[in-house]
This record gives sequence, C-alpha cells and structure tokens, in this order.
Amino acid sequence: MPVAAPKKSRSTSRRRPEPELIFGDLWEFDPAPESADPRLAERYQLFIGGRFVAPKSGKYFPSINPATEKPIAEIALAAAKDVDAAYAAAAEAAPRWARLPGAERGKYIYRLARLLQDRAREFAVAETLDGGKPIRESRDFDVPMAAAHFFYHAGWADKLAYAFPGADPQPHGVVGQVIPWNFPLLMLAWKIAPALATGNTVVLKPAETTSVTALKFAEIVREAGLPPGVVNIVTGAGETGAAVVNHPAAAKVAFTGSTDVGKLIMRSTAGTGKKLTLELGGKAANIVFEDAPLDQAVEGIVNGIFFNQGHVCCAGSRLLVQESVADAVLRRLRNRIDVLRVGNPLDKNTDIGAINSKEQLNKIAGLVKAGQREGAAMYQSKCRLPRTGWYFRPTLFSGVEQSHRIAREEIFGPVLSILTFRTVAEAVEKANNTAYGLSAGVWTEKGSRILKMSTALKAGVVWANTYNKFDPTSPFGGYKESGFGREGGKHGLADYVKLT
Ligand code: NAP
Ligand code: MG
Repeated sequence: MPVAAPKKSRSTSRRRPEPELIFGDLWEFDPAPESADPRLAERYQLFIGGRFVAPKSGKYFPSINPATEKPIAEIALAAAKDVDAAYAAAAEAAPRWARLPGAERGKYIYRLARLLQDRAREFAVAETLDGGKPIRESRDFDVPMAAAHFFYHAGWADKLAYAFPGADPQPHGVVGQVIPWNFPLLMLAWKIAPALATGNTVVLKPAETTSVTALKFAEIVREAGLPPGVVNIVTGAGETGAAVVNHPAAAKVAFTGSTDVGKLIMRSTAGTGKKLTLELGGKAANIVFEDAPLDQAVEGIVNGIFFNQGHVCCAGSRLLVQESVADAVLRRLRNRIDVLRVGNPLDKNTDIGAINSKEQLNKIAGLVKAGQREGAAMYQSKCRLPRTGWYFRPTLFSGVEQSHRIAREEIFGPVLSILTFRTVAEAVEKANNTAYGLSAGVWTEKGSRILKMSTALKAGVVWANTYNKFDPTSPFGGYKESGFGREGGKHGLADYVKLT
C-alpha cells in the first residue's frame, strides 16, 4: 500500500499483508534504494529523431529537487522550431512503423519494458529526486506500473485485429502528447505504450518541473534500438506544450493535466480534425457507510488522500461519511495522520514527501486558508517538517459544506474535506454534486449497495472497499470536466486507432 500502516498495527498483526500490486513484485530492489545512483546528467538535451540534440535557442532551465530546493539538472527548452523538428522526425518514421508487423512492434515494446525493469532502481531514485514523491512509492508503484503498461501493450501489438474484429484498426499517424508532473514516468507510459502498440509515432512533452525520467526513458528508447523518430521527447513549459498540441502534423492529441488547460486545448483543436482525448482534474467522493469495517476504511481514506502528497487526479479528496459513524471516523483519522511521517522523500520510511513546487505549495496553502475563512474546522498533524524543501502537513477539514471552495476545487495536496450524509440518496446526490467525474470510493459490507452506488455515481472509476488501485487492463478516465477518452485496457487502445 502506498501509505504504510502505522508501526503499532504492523507489530500487532501477524498476517502477511496481501500483495497490493499485481506487477509490484516482479523483481527485488536493493533494501536501501536511497543510496542508489540515479545517474543524472548535468544537462539534458531534446530527444528528436533518435538523437539527443541541443535546442535551437540554446536555452535551458533548471529542474529543482523540491526536497532541497536545489537544481538537479539543466533541461533543454524547446521552442516552436524544435517542436517542428520533432514532428518532422515522427512523420518520417510513421509509415514504416505502422507497416511493421505487430509482432515486431511488440518486440520493441517488450524491450522497453525489460530495460525499464533493469534500470528500475535508478528510475525510482530519479523520479523521487525530481518530483518529491516518497521513494517507497516511486519504487513500488510508479516504476513497476510504468513497466507493466509497456508489457501489457506489447501484448496487444499483434492482436489488434482481434481487439477490433472486422474494423480494420489503423494508426492515426503522429500523436502529440502532453503530461503532468504528478506521475511523470507513469503518465509517459500510459501515453507512449498504447500509441506504439497501435502503430503511431509520438512527440511527447513532460511537465516543466519533472522532465528527468522522460529523458532517461529516451536513453532506453535508444538502447532498445527503436527506429529513429518513433519516440520524440521535447521539454519546456506551457508554451512548448501549446506548440505540441497545435502542430498541424499532430493527427491525434492526448493530454493529461488540469481542466483549465484541457479547455484551452479543446478550443484550439476544435475544427482541426485532430482526434482528442483529455484526462483532467477530479474531486472524488470517498463514501463511507455506517456498516463499513471502519479500521479498513480509515486506511483506505488515508491512502486515498495522502498517496503522492495528494497530487493525484483521482484522490479521494472529499470524504462523505454517514452521520452515525462520523465522529468515530474523524477520531481515528486524527490519530492516524498524527503518525504519518512527512519528510525526506529518499527515506524509505517516509509516507508523505515534498510538494512538487513552490507554486503548488502556495496553491494548497491558499485553499486551506479559504477553508478556514469559510468556517470549516481544521485539524493538522503535529509532525515536524524539514527546514528546507516544500512540505505541507496532512490536514483534515470537518464540518465542510458543499458550497465551500475546499469541497468544490481540486486542492491537489494532502488536504481532506469531510462532509456527512444520512441516506443513500443524499450520499449519491452530494457525491455527484461536482463539476468533475473521474473517480469515487464506496465502503460498505453490502454487495447490493456497492452495485447500486457504482451505477448511480457519475465517475469513470468506482473503487469498492479499496482505493487508488490501478492495473493496465483496466480503463481509466472521466466524465464531465474530468475529460473524455480512456487510458488502459481495450478502451484505451481504441482511442489510438481509426476504425472503419
Ligand atoms: P497543467 O498545468 O494543466 O499541465 C499539464 C501539462 O500541460 C504540463 O506539461 C504543462 O506544461 C502543459 N501545458 C501548460 N499549458 C499548456 C497549454 N496552454 N497548452 C498545452 N500544454 C500546456 O496540469 P499540472 O498542474 O501539470 O497537473 C495537475 C493536473 O493534472 C491536475 O488537475 C490533475 O487532476 C490532472 N491530472 C489528471 C490525470 C487524469 O488521468 N485524469 C492524471 C494526472 C493528473 P508545464 O508543466 O511546463 O506548464
Ligand atoms: Mg523537479
């Protein structure tokens, strides 16, 4: 589980915990991953046409370690001309890659997966240094799940005719992809693996604050011997992203990020004929009924909101708890967050690492102030925070009303808004009372209630008696302002092919 159980329960429980991730134990890690060498370059170039090339402007920007506030590497800043070059390389490679027999494409993708596994420790440390997430999460979740996505999609490459029988699935051509900073390598895998399996070539832009693992992935692309131009990585800020999205050679655009930028992209691609998929924000309801096993539910709530510092689009950021058990749940939650360890992301005992950027820290602090101003009751853990680095205490707000900003807006931090309900109908009504529709959680002993709730909840993913569980076979995506299109499973594959 991403957020570890407190020491107390570990020592009292003799049962071996269930393995949480299907692909999590494919290989062993060094017991001291914090000492692994992330093999960072001082300077990272753009990856275009199978080569690392300097940006035409000669400009670079620093990537900062949020735990130390110090730069860890310089990253090339791609402007429109560099993006042109990336699309030219991708367009040149596209017909040959599309014509390659599926089994051959599959071999390359398997190779990417295996190389990622070989260098898993190095990738985990780099991800943690660049983004601030706890090493335990990058080691046990991000990297193995990224490899799992490549394995899964490698298997599809020669089976597309079976996935879409009679529909003659064809690639779109060149796909422009833009990803956020919360799961940099994993979001890259969600984008690149299905695109390659279906015979598309890609131009991908990682987020400004977390480009390092995408560029390390480019090293793997070279090592795997992928034909030049099949994968191109251009780095930079929002302007680079806009150039990727708006390039005329992009036949399809796949974006993961905020709803605000998603709306801009929807406007700018309207009428262009580009196929568009958007994976955007969320404000998920995690709903606890009075018959739920409360200790288990509390662990699920903690995992739902504090995993990856709460920088999770599907985070269970609105807890809806039935009134009869609200006090009991709140009491347990307070005790539980008091023992969460906040601090050095490279320490394998850390539960909550550093906030990804100063900007994000300010955004979280601003919304927390709004919560206090609007009258919700705040409880924060009393843990000591490191002197340097961007950190935020695990925070609970009770007495939250639906009109409060902390109930409506995505905070994207370790902050839980708690609301109560009396009846099933009220729970559904409150859960769906949001502009978003990405995910939800339901905690109850009753199977019939789980089925009823998962039908009534307007959310792309509904977890029952668990939270934040992922698998490459399972489609992920939203409704309403959480976007459209799916990633993972056959549904995700369908967004990367033209069907007749
Ligand atoms: P963001 O500000 O929208 O940025 C996402 C990506 O878009 C970044 O690479 C960003 O570049 C780029 N970008 C910025 N402006 C752009 C523009 N005008 N045109 C094209 N690209 C542009 O989001 P974020 O803060 O990185 O990520 C957090 C958001 O992502 C949250 O809302 C979260 O819920 C969402 N998210 C959704 C999912 C999902 O599957 N639904 C998964 C993960 C995250 P820069 O970083 O350089 O500005
Ligand atoms: Mg960084």
